Amino acid sequence: MVLTQRFDILVIGGGPAGMAAAVRAAECGARVGVVDDNPKLGGQIWRGEPDQQGSNQDGKSEAAQWADRFRRSGAAMLCGIRVFHQPQEGILLAEGTDDLVELRYGKLVLATGARERFLPFPGWTLPNVMGAGGLQAMVKSGLPIRGKRVVVAGTGPLLLAVAAYLRKHGADIPMICEQASWSSLAAFAVSLAGQPRKLMQALQLKRELAGIPFIPSSWPVAAYGLRTLEKVTLALPSRTETIPCDYLACGFHLVPNLELPLLLGCQVDNGYVTVDEFQRTNLPQIFCAGEPTGIGGLELALVGGQIAGLAAANQTSTAQGLFRQQKKARRFAQALDRTFQLRPELQALPQPETIVCRCEDVPYSHLRPHGSWRAAKLQSRCGMGPCQGRICGPATQFLMNWNPDSVRPPVFPARVESLATIAESSEQVCSQAMGGER
Ligand SMILES: Cc1cc2nc3c(=O)[nH]c(=O)nc-3n(C[C@H](O)[C@H](O)[C@H](O)COP(=O)(O)OP(=O)(O)OC[C@H]3O[C@@H](n4cnc5c(N)ncnc54)[C@H](O)[C@@H]3O)c2cc1C
Repeated sequence: MVLTQRFDILVIGGGPAGMAAAVRAAECGARVGVVDDNPKLGGQIWRGEPDQQGSNQDGKSEAAQWADRFRRSGAAMLCGIRVFHQPQEGILLAEGTDDLVELRYGKLVLATGARERFLPFPGWTLPNVMGAGGLQAMVKSGLPIRGKRVVVAGTGPLLLAVAAYLRKHGADIPMICEQASWSSLAAFAVSLAGQPRKLMQALQLKRELAGIPFIPSSWPVAAYGLRTLEKVTLALPSRTETIPCDYLACGFHLVPNLELPLLLGCQVDNGYVTVDEFQRTNLPQIFCAGEPTGIGGLELALVGGQIAGLAAANQTSTAQGLFRQQKKARRFAQALDRTFQLRPELQALPQPETIVCRCEDVPYSHLRPHGSWRAAKLQSRCGMGPCQGRICGPATQFLMNWNPDSVRPPVFPARVESLATIAESSEQVCSQAMGGER
């Protein structure tokens, strides 16, 4: 069955950026809808529990305030559906558990967030080697972690947030390995000088992680175990060390979810959707906010979302009042990119037999002969499994300098029934256009 919904302003993504955009636009009187594929709003950081977050360093009291404001704004919440196709301008198709949903919009705000970047190394596909944010999400959903030994490794501030969270829930963290060097971390710390809130957050994390060795210029080189992870070998600045553990929480910073913006034709430069100060993309009716415009954390998501929502509702002068905050948040995003860029040594992590595309079981040795992402896809099936290159795409981009050259619908795997309905309706459109003749 196809359900049709119409909105003046449609927001894709119900994380902080999407919630902020929806609230500000709906408060201006626009008919607003927010779509998210999770069962509740909140995105990665609030994870569907904005109301239950106490006030602490993650701005979580802010979460409850935004949830409350969202409820009062009158914006419609369409959770549990995922946008996968744009059959024509102004219309998006999304799938729910049972239905196909047609979403018609006047203006669109893309707030599709980011995901963790994974790099392949021997043993990275063993059970219990997990993304740092992924493990945190599983613990939030009930995975028992008390008493478990968790090595945290990779790069980016998420590692610290996750380590603090896991420790608070009873995990034993023997070590945090950060691939960035002391000198780039020191430069990053200096850049926080003008940002008292960030400094407070950093100090709180330092307190929460007291006693856990934090080792810059270090990274995992191999994970071992018979059926599940048993130990991990880490390259430390002056030696390698093998540590027994139950989990390896490992992520190499974040990559923006650009599939939908690219499908719609948004311009992307240096890995992010290009937006002006009103968060407008190159397409007149489409705005973008949050992580697809820069990996900048909660502040960038909230301020960019608010500006996008206001600008989409034609309240540009109110939006201008947020420009200073936006500039500061964008500077922070640039500092994150500089500090946590991947060091070239990590390109040597995979061995010939290391699986790179875990959906299609493609080892590194099968990829090396190819000169491009497209050639590798055609000849090895790399990137053609259910995740559609979301994991191996960014990895091969770093390892081989390949660029995914095109995005095609459906941007997420869709049910055959949905694809058949699309095919049927485009046949009808064709036959109507041809005066009923076939
Ligand atoms: C796994 C993970 C864990 C994180 N944990 C923390 C943390 O503990 N602390 C912290 O400070 N920061 C954390 N972050 C960073 C945090 O996500 C950002 O700082 C910021 O909050 C991002 O907000 P956003 O609204 O841009 O994106 P998100 O919060 O990612 O929201 C985007 C939403 O859009 C939805 N979406 C995307 N595409 C579609 C589609 N086609 N159809 C329907 N819905 C769609 C996604 O499911 C998601 O809910 C985490 C990031 C990740 C990837």
